Amino acid sequence: EIVFIAKESDPNEGRVAGSVESVKKLKSLGFDVVVEAGAGLRSRMLDAEYEKAGARIGTAAHAKGADVILKVRRPTEAEIAGYKSGAIVIAIMDPYGNEEAIAAMAGAGLTAFAMELMPRITRAQSMDVLSSQANLAGYQAVIDAAHEYDRALPMMMTAAGTVPAAKVFVMGAGVAGLQAIATARRLGAMVSATDVRPAAKEQVASLGAKFIAVEDEEFKAAETAGGYAKEMSRDYQAKQAALVAEHIAKQDIVITTALIPGRPAPRLVTHEMLHSMKPGSVVVDLAVERGGNVEGAEAGKVTEVGGVKVVGHLNVPGRIAASASLLYAKNLVTFLETMVSKETKTLKLDMEDELVKATALTHGGAVVHPAFGGANR
Ligand code: NAD
Repeated sequence: EIVFIAKESDPNEGRVAGSVESVKKLKSLGFDVVVEAGAGLRSRMLDAEYEKAGARIGTAAHAKGADVILKVRRPTEAEIAGYKSGAIVIAIMDPYGNEEAIAAMAGAGLTAFAMELMPRITRAQSMDVLSSQANLAGYQAVIDAAHEYDRALPMMMTAAGTVPAAKVFVMGAGVAGLQAIATARRLGAMVSATDVRPAAKEQVASLGAKFIAVEDEEFKAAETAGGYAKEMSRDYQAKQAALVAEHIAKQDIVITTALIPGRPAPRLVTHEMLHSMKPGSVVVDLAVERGGNVEGAEAGKVTEVGGVKVVGHLNVPGRIAASASLLYAKNLVTFLETMVSKETKTLKLDMEDELVKATALTHGGAVVHPAFGGANR
């Protein structure tokens, strides 16, 4: 059976769905692997290296013969037309609000898997793309902030005087936020953080940062069984905003990472708060593609509001593409391995498997995921 590792067509996507290691692993699972020429270039993975690992180098036309297509982004209509009916496509599908695109994959007879729907259970930890990519995004957000900030982050005591440490505030202490905290700490900043999940408090403290939050009854109950944030009441949001407003005015760098699965990102930083900050301060909005945590943040741009730089880079994991691809490719191959029979070394899809159930969007010509209009469960 053939696995095709596609070249991403989105110009903003520097990542690739296969690495040298993942190709070797795919070969050992019994697959014939075709890598689209130049697919890994922007992730520093060369065709010759894939070839040495056992892959063949092909063109987009080779997708037609593939049983499994590995991608970073959901395939476009044109790409879908190049796949055979019955093929498995695994990617970051960005399914919420994209029901039409999901229906198109169903219509083409594809079995499409959305990696971001992987359940966050121990068995699937090594397949968790949200974590592997958010972790790098959190790191990169601090690097981007440091790049835009005209001062040093650590305190420096020199013969010529003392540079004060930068004050960094991280909003949302999930996977990305915790890595942002750790990275800012490594760079010597004074770090504080907030989150609506009570469990975050201890994690923030264990990284040596100060926790800032309104800790009322609603806060104590603000975590879903899946470990995600709930959308908070208006009343809570107002109380939190007041506390945050006071805190933000004293910060040099703010990094926002707050997300609620399947909902627009919560608005955490208002224009007014931006205006309360010192000119030259930097705000990085990691949620900009999901509606944004920061008022005035623009996707794909660095803007200025009252002298404060507001950074809204697109696809932040893609800004650290070589590392992101390495981890993403590993996530993919680990998932695909669960679909391969060890005895026959062939694909054996079990639609009742809990990982398959959670991530399959389309199968057998229909949308199968209940969250996106699928009924046959
Ligand atoms: P996420 O990307 O969905 O959201 C980022 C953070 O924003 C979360 O911590 C969330 O609580 C926070 N947030 C949402 N609304 C907010 C608001 N109004 N103000 C401040 N913060 C707000 O989250 P994530 O990084 O994917 O992590 C979610 C949870 O899942 C965490 O508890 C994480 O530790 C857990 N997790 C578990 C596993 C596993 O068990 N395998 C793997 C990864 C993550």
